[in-house]
Amino acid sequence: MAEKVSACKVQIKPIISPISGELSDRVLRKCNFCEKECEYFTNQSQIIDRLSGPKNFYCSFCLRHGFNNRSNRDVFILSFRSIYAYFYLQNYFCSTIGKKLWISEIEDYIESHKDVGLINPLFFYDDDTMLWFIDFSKVGNSKKKIPLDEILKTVVNILASFNFRENIIGMKLSDLYLKYKEGIEAFYQKRHMPKDGRILIPTLENTGAVYSKAHNIEKTKKFIFKNLCVKKN
Ligand SMILES: [Zn+2]
Repeated sequence: MAEKVSACKVQIKPIISPISGELSDRVLRKCNFCEKECEYFTNQSQIIDRLSGPKNFYCSFCLRHGFNNRSNRDVFILSFRSIYAYFYLQNYFCSTIGKKLWISEIEDYIESHKDVGLINPLFFYDDDTMLWFIDFSKVGNSKKKIPLDEILKTVVNILASFNFRENIIGMKLSDLYLKYKEGIEAFYQKRHMPKDGRILIPTLENTGAVYSKAHNIEKTKKFIFKNLCVKKN
């Protein structure tokens, strides 16, 4: 039997908006420059909104380093995320290929690659996203600039810190390095961005590294520190 529905009077009141009309006091926003997703309390975002400018949003890291300015056209973003993802998935989670690694060892590799990169003052690193930012406005052949070779040398040193010979058997470091080199040179010469977006994150595909069929190679580009979870046996 159908239930009887009766009408009653209701009073509708507007929601008291914390700042600018958002329906929640927490908002998730994506940085216009580095694409980081950030969660903010609306009552805390006033400063960020003012610094970002109308209809824009930049994360605190980008604002702190001035990547919200027009000069950000000279900043190139790259990452080594696919390598940590490989270490986690192949050397830890499945641990069938290469040397077995513990989570703490992978964390040590992440820390040491950071230490190596930060030796170069034109390299900036964001721990949250594991992205590197290189300021190319200071790269060149004039007196106050550093030559491109110094940028490439830092990338080689970072790659060397991962000890591929033991950890990824069969991988050719030179093949992986070439992917970084080509992307960096294209940006240096013509400010060309990587084909698939603003951020250069080469995968280990076609370098001799063996992937398990279960792993989606493209997804390894999105791997970040918080994905390093202990495996449940
Ligand atoms: Zn950002």
